[in-house]
Formats: sequence, C-alpha cells, structure tokens
Amino acid sequence: MCMAEAFADIIIIGSGAAGLTAALNLAPHYKVLVLAKGGLSEGSTAWAQGGIAAVLEDGDTFESHIEDTMIAGAGLNNRATVEMVVENAPKAIARLEELGVPFNAEGNHLHLTREGGHSHRRIVHVDDATGWAVQQALEAAAKAHPNITLVPDMVAIDLITGRHADPYSGESHVWGVYAFNRKTKHVDTLTARATILATGGAGRTYLFSTSPRGATGDGIAMAWRAGCRVANMEMNQFHPTCLYNLEVKNFLITEAVRGEGGILKIPTGVQGGGERFMPRFDARAELAPRDIVARAIDHEIKRLGLDYVHLDISHKPAAFIKEHFPNIYMRLLDLDIDITKEPIPIVPAQHYTCGGVVIDLDGRTDIPGLYAAGEVSQSGLHGANRLASNSLLECFVFGEAAAQHIHANWERLPAPPPIHAWDESRVTDSDEEIIVKHNWSEIRRFMWDYVGIVRTTKRLERAAHRVKLLRREVEEYYGNFRVTPDLIELRNLIEVADLIVRSALARKESRGLHYIRDYPETLPDARDTVLVP
Ligand SMILES: Cc1cc2nc3c(=O)[nH]c(=O)nc-3n(C[C@H](O)[C@H](O)[C@H](O)COP(=O)(O)OP(=O)(O)OC[C@H]3O[C@@H](n4cnc5c(N)ncnc54)[C@H](O)[C@@H]3O)c2cc1C
Repeated sequence: MCMAEAFADIIIIGSGAAGLTAALNLAPHYKVLVLAKGGLSEGSTAWAQGGIAAVLEDGDTFESHIEDTMIAGAGLNNRATVEMVVENAPKAIARLEELGVPFNAEGNHLHLTREGGHSHRRIVHVDDATGWAVQQALEAAAKAHPNITLVPDMVAIDLITGRHADPYSGESHVWGVYAFNRKTKHVDTLTARATILATGGAGRTYLFSTSPRGATGDGIAMAWRAGCRVANMEMNQFHPTCLYNLEVKNFLITEAVRGEGGILKIPTGVQGGGERFMPRFDARAELAPRDIVARAIDHEIKRLGLDYVHLDISHKPAAFIKEHFPNIYMRLLDLDIDITKEPIPIVPAQHYTCGGVVIDLDGRTDIPGLYAAGEVSQSGLHGANRLASNSLLECFVFGEAAAQHIHANWERLPAPPPIHAWDESRVTDSDEEIIVKHNWSEIRRFMWDYVGIVRTTKRLERAAHRVKLLRREVEEYYGNFRVTPDLIELRNLIEVADLIVRSALARKESRGLHYIRDYPETLPDARDTVLVP
C-alpha cells in the first residue's frame, strides 16, 4: 500500500501479540491501521518458545500465580496490575483457542508445563514454538477483518503531537505518527484519534540479545521524546545461555540442555581451563535459577577476560543429544559445531525489557490519545524481574484493556487538526553510512561491557560518558541527512541506552535484575525508578 498521508480511527504501531490483540478488539467498531517496521511476523512474539501462564490446573489458584509473580518481581510489582493480568489469563487463553491456536492437549484438557518460579503447572503451549502459532492465528484473524489494514515496512519515526499541528497551542495530545515508508523511501504522515504503541522491547541495545533485530526500543524512545514518563529501565532480564558467535548473536540454547546434564566449563587454553565452575557459586550448580547462573558466567568472563565460556553436553550419548535437541544440533552443525563431540561457546544474553513507558490499568500513557501495551510498557506486572511466560499474557490483557478504554471514551477523543507534513527539504542523502553502522556496534558493545549483568558505578559512569558523546554525533547526523531505517533505529538505541544508564545510576541498591557491586543490599522500600522528561 502506498500512503504519504492517511487517516484511520486508530493507529497501532506494532503487529505482535499486543498490537494485534488491540486491533481485533477495536475492529468491530473502528477502522484500524496496524504498522510493522518490517514483515508482520518479525517481532518477538513469533520467537516465544515456552508458552503462556494461566491458572487452569485443579488445585492451582489466582492467589498462587499472583504470589509467584510478586516473588519474582522482588517487591517492585504493582499488585493491582498483577491481579488484573492473572485473573484475565484463563479468558485470554480461551480467546486464543477460539482463534484456532492449536495448544497441546491431553484428552479434554490443555497440557500444562511447569517453569521456574511457578509453583504449579500452568504453562499452556504449542510444542516449543508457542509464539509462532499465536502470531499466525492473530495475523490470520486480522487479515480476515475488513476494518483492519495491516501495513508492513513502515518504520515509525516520531509521534505526532500538538506541536506538529500548532506549535504555540501548548496542547498535549498524540495524533498519530510520522513513519518512513520503505517502499517509497519517503516519510508518511499518518493521523488518528488514538494511537497505541505496541513496539516490543529494547533487547538490541545489547551486543548479545535473544530478541529479533527490530527490538531497538523505538516505542520507548518515541514516547519519551513526546513527553511520557519511562520507568524501571535498569531491569533487563538476561538469559544465561546464548550461542557466542559474532555473526549469529541471538541463538538461544535452551535451559533444557543444562536440565539434561549440560555442564558449564572454563574454555581450555586459559587459566583454570576445563574447570566446571558452577559448584563454586551455588550448590545447585548448573540447575541454579537463571539469574544466578547468568551472574556466575558473567563473573568468570570478566574475571578471566574471556569472550565466552563453554556449555558441554558431549559426554552424553550422541543419539540422546540428537533426540532431545534436534534443532540445536542441526543449527550448530551448520556453524561447524558438533555438540555430540565438542562444547558450545556461550554467553548470557539480554532477553526481556522489564521497564518501559509508564501506563495505567487502561493502557493509558501520560499523553491523551496515546496508549501502550506489551513489552514496550511498564504496567507494573513484572516489577524487578519477569516471571517466565507472563509476558505474552501481558500483551493479551493490556491489548484488550487499551481497546476497551478507547471504545468507552471515543467521544472524548477529538479528530486530529491539520498536521504539518514531514520536512525533507533541508536534508541531503548521506554518503557516510559507515558512521551509522559503527555507532550502532559501539553502543551495543559498551552497553554489554559496562551496563550488563553485574554493574559498578564506575562502569555506569563510563557508559554515561560514551552515551553523551555518541548522542551528539548521532543528533548532528540526524539533523543533516535524510532518514533511513538504520538511522531511525540508531537514534532510538542511543535514547534507550541513555534511559537504561540513568536508571541504573539512580537505583542505589541491588534488587531483582539490577545488581550493582557498590550497593549490594536491597533497601527496605521498593520504589520504581521513574524518569520524567
Ligand atoms: C527467544 C524468545 C523467547 C521468548 N519466550 C517467551 C515465552 O515462552 N513466553 C512469554 O510469555 N514470553 C516469551 N518471550 C517474550 C515475548 O515473546 C515478548 O515479550 C512478546 O512477544 C512481546 O510482544 P509485543 O507485542 O509487545 O512485541 P513484539 O512481538 O516484539 O512486536 C513488536 C512489533 O512492533 C513493530 N515495531 C517496532 N518498532 C517499530 C517502528 N519503529 N515502526 C513500526 N513498527 C515497529 C515490530 O515490527 C513488531 O511488529 C520470549 C522472547 C524471546 C525473544
């Protein structure tokens, strides 16, 4: 679809679980435009493996799921949010079944697995590729609805606010978005009475991340620039075992490899080479909780100046390995690693962005007309650490909540005033794309080195200094040259890196996912780190 200028009742930026849920809830009443910056299925939703948490087992209770979520969140969760999400989970699963998601079942019941931190079996799943099945079902329903227009290849740049209508009005409202159209290579002006951010997380701020390439925190950066509060950005969840490969930086090695006997070792050829190090950190060794394993690996990598450590399952029979881990076996064989004969080089990797744009129980941000749902948001569900399989659930519950609030308040959402088109007259094409590429790599590298799993004030200050220098360079570049998708993402990465570093420096304690050597204790009062623009 060619656009330039378009008006819809509601614009949703993001075509993952949160965006499509909102779209399907709004479509019976309104015309909805859903944007994706690449293909429709390229967000994290399609990559989710484990499943979705819901109280469905006899003997399980909402109270138990609420408590498990609050324990994982280390006291930083908002109890009202947790209750709302947990209590709406069975309904969300039923709706997905109606849409045709083929959840695994045993007789008349859905098959439930158990994951770390859950005190009951409560994870519904579609084999080990739940997210893909969910994404396909939501997309099929959205494509079939006459009121939903799905527009891939549209890279949202900035939200349209009052100042883009009348710069002197001082009116605070979001009227849609300016977006780079990859097909025409121009910036389109897309207006609406309400806009929902469903742009996912910011994993790609880090060198190693399990998230897809587009997880550059665009929604968080856009909302911040528009004037929304952002909270708890220091809370980044790291998965302990991601393949170390400088080409493939996001291949997850499932925890099941450790569950089936995989051992973590110092690589041979360095001091202490071949040592199994986990027993030094925790009596449960490789089976300790995620955070402990990730921290121990990070400690050894930093202590010995390594790039990676080894995860070794080659002592198990080859047939066992191939039967249990067929995908990992084949994928690594393609990269010349035969896991039946040799260890896997691994590093921990950023996995989930717990912080984000502050929203209330209706998905409202600080600015009228702007809503947010899913990983882009800080709803209060996850607190200082996310409980496994609660994140897709948050997308369904808040995607629907935002849609309901828009519907209930439709008459109070005015039509947009005339909006200035994007001015491309003062810029030229860049002949220095290498700067964008270089700065992109530099951000991800220093965030990995200085703002990773174990932090110190000194390293954070060093990162803050780098952010300042890079920001100046990127802003100058942004002001002089025509935008490209890479430049748009780079500008957002530097914004998000800044928010993470500032939040990490502001928290003078260790809590949940934020561990800082200078403040190892947890303070008695749990407080959100709220940044105000
Ligand atoms: C490997 C992996 C495994 C996971 N496993 C699980 C699991 O088992 N259970 C669970 O609950 N969670 C899991 N998660 C987390 C979960 O998948 C995500 O939190 C969730 O899918 C986020 O959904 P979302 O709708 O918020 O965003 P996403 O699904 O990430 O979608 C973001 C959308 O926004 C669009 N977008 C972004 N920026 C722009 C822009 N500038 N312009 C236009 N469009 C834009 C993207 O194109 C995309 O369509 C996993 C995550 C990963 C990476």
